[in-house]
Amino acid sequence: MKLARTIAELNLILDPFRAKKANVGFVPTMGALHAGHISLIKLAKAENEMVVCSIFVNPTQFNDPKDLERYPRPIEDDKHMLEAAGCDVLFMPAVKEMYPDGDYSTLKDDFGTLDKVMEGISRPGHFAGMITIVNKLFMAVMPQNAYFGQKDFQQLSIVKNFIEKHTIPIRIIACPIVREADGLAMSSRNRLLNPDERKRAVIISQTLFKVKEMWSKTPVAEIKKFVEDVFTKEGYLKLIYFEIADTQTLQPIAGNAKQAVACIAVFDGKIRLIDNVLLTA
Ligand code: AMP
Repeated sequence: MKLARTIAELNLILDPFRAKKANVGFVPTMGALHAGHISLIKLAKAENEMVVCSIFVNPTQFNDPKDLERYPRPIEDDKHMLEAAGCDVLFMPAVKEMYPDGDYSTLKDDFGTLDKVMEGISRPGHFAGMITIVNKLFMAVMPQNAYFGQKDFQQLSIVKNFIEKHTIPIRIIACPIVREADGLAMSSRNRLLNPDERKRAVIISQTLFKVKEMWSKTPVAEIKKFVEDVFTKEGYLKLIYFEIADTQTLQPIAGNAKQAVACIAVFDGKIRLIDNVLLTA
């Protein structure tokens, strides 16, 4: 695996492949890699001649400075995992490479309804920061295919919308959520949980799986009440939001819809976790 720390180094590595019209598959990450990330790398590897993974903890998408500070950065482990998965290039730029001259300005795209719900309300500025770095990384890597996890369902919707709106010639591939054996969605933040918090976290996915069972036969208001009660009773985990949304518009839905996703955000102690489950095929 080759390592590029600057866009110039990345171009030196990729230019010969671009000249041969080799397909480049791209997996943007913030590192602290786990099997969820690796599933994206493996799919990219199967579909492209060249796989680039980026590790960049993007300051503009963190609305809580403490969250940014404590974000895990186990870079040597990450490198080993990427090597083992067959990643060809690791792009690991410094903050000043992606935000030259300390200019942290973000794109002001209008995503209509997509960023006015759930994470968009809960984390002001998060999606502007996210799309800014994704756009910068797309411009640097210029992939044919880019791989995103459904774990961040709203992020995936916004990236797809951005690509379509600006007619950017990159195919966005959605990848299923990879879970721990007990059902917890894999996340870099899971490693920040203490053993007690880690045990409690399983309630998040268990609740979503129960919601999926209830979905076809229970009114939405009743499902929401069920979820609120679970977290009130549990007492330690704090529900930030639970929403049943249309998979296309991300607008909350009141009754049964053709395409629905149940999304949740929870504080487990100081650690913010998100998860979702598709309610319809
Ligand atoms: P992150 O490093 O958290 O920014 O995630 C990088 C990419 O990996 C994003 O597209 C995420 O949606 C995806 N990802 C994170 N966790 C999972 C998971 N458990 N299963 C599948 N994809 C994931």
